[in-house]
Amino acid sequence: MSSPTNHLSEYDYLIVGGGAAGLSLAYHISREPRLADKKVLLIEPDAKTRNDRTWSFWADEPGLFDGIVAHEWRKFAFRSPGFERVIDLGRYRYKTINGLDYYRFVHRAVAASPQFASMQGEVTRLANTPTGAVATITDSEITARYAFDSRPPNLAELKQPEKHRYLLQHFVGWEIETETDVFDPTTVEFMDFRGEQQHEARFMYVLPYSPRKALVEYTLFSETVLPKAEYEAAIRHYLTNTLKLKSYQITAEEAGAIPMTDHPLPARTGQHIINLGTRGGRAKPSTGYAFKRIQQHSARLVAALAATGRPPADATGDNWQFRLFDTLLLDIMQRQGESTRDIFRQLFERNPVERIFRFLDEQTSWADNLRVMNSVSAGPFMRSIGQVLRGRPGRR
Ligand SMILES: Cc1cc2nc3c(=O)[nH]c(=O)nc-3n(C[C@H](O)[C@H](O)[C@H](O)COP(=O)(O)OP(=O)(O)OC[C@H]3O[C@@H](n4cnc5c(N)ncnc54)[C@H](O)[C@@H]3O)c2cc1C
Repeated sequence: MSSPTNHLSEYDYLIVGGGAAGLSLAYHISREPRLADKKVLLIEPDAKTRNDRTWSFWADEPGLFDGIVAHEWRKFAFRSPGFERVIDLGRYRYKTINGLDYYRFVHRAVAASPQFASMQGEVTRLANTPTGAVATITDSEITARYAFDSRPPNLAELKQPEKHRYLLQHFVGWEIETETDVFDPTTVEFMDFRGEQQHEARFMYVLPYSPRKALVEYTLFSETVLPKAEYEAAIRHYLTNTLKLKSYQITAEEAGAIPMTDHPLPARTGQHIINLGTRGGRAKPSTGYAFKRIQQHSARLVAALAATGRPPADATGDNWQFRLFDTLLLDIMQRQGESTRDIFRQLFERNPVERIFRFLDEQTSWADNLRVMNSVSAGPFMRSIGQVLRGRPGRR
């Protein structure tokens, strides 16, 4: 990789932010022979040398990053009071990738490709020009035909709570090691809702990597984050009282807050700036899952760039009916968070897991959408439909 030499540098593509989405786009471009002559600059302030997150997702086909998958599982456990089920994922696998492995893998791939340059820096301004886009980094300007912007959206500033719903999927997770065999490395504890809900959706999420090693996360879907000690107390409680562990070692920690919102996060800003990742609405509003949607988005952008020289007119291919389902679910979570547990319970009790995955992947037919909607109690949804029709979020 080389560095841009001066402020007049002209690139075909400028990728702003080298996290999940920026690096995904870079990697997809690097694999497309029809784009091999395009000059790409990747701008990222952070060296990306820490394992700052793990990405998990379900998949029923091979993926571009299978080579760096840290672990995969073929069973899910869902637990809530009075209902527990271990579900075989059939043709699906649940997979986890460590952030650091991903950063290194893509950095290596783009370093091997002369079309890429990279720069450590912060873009302070990004604007359309008549022929492209211009980015300001400290005191220099860089122009490109198209810019792809993955800077996190500033939702705190943009927020319109009278119109939209703003929740977070927030969590603290400990990677722990035990001295005896405790975990079943074939089964993800996907959602364990047996703990206190406190009028919100609160569950444990456990990724067992081996019989003696797992990531144990206390996760909430709610409006505000908790003091760190509260997550830690909940994890400790789960380890001691549910798993009956007497001793364990904490070897790593993960924490995060992913926006779950129906605030419009547009796929583009003007003609020459395409938004990526969380900024471009790729975190699914009702679940916070983003990694696979980011990969699909990169593939869609690169296919259009290669075929037509331009990003696709419809940059994401999102479908309004799934946005509506997301909004309804967010409305219920915001208005009546404790019923989230029952909705997920009904989903897992009354649908084959493949249908749930396809629904959450926004691939189901109208008929299957109806089946999914019919599988959950209508009451909370009817009230939220009322709120949506009135154009304002429901309140508790
Ligand atoms: C701890 C954690 C765990 C998660 N786990 C999962 C999961 O298991 N499955 C899943 O599907 N999703 C998960 N997500 C959600 C989502 O996949 C991630 O948030 C993902 O990283 C989003 O990708 P992104 O590119 O939008 O943002 P990021 O990966 O955060 O990348 C944005 C990049 O922009 C850079 N940047 C910021 N400001 C500037 C600037 N001014 N100029 C240039 N660059 C800038 C940042 O340094 C950063 O590298 C998780 C999120 C977190 C926080």
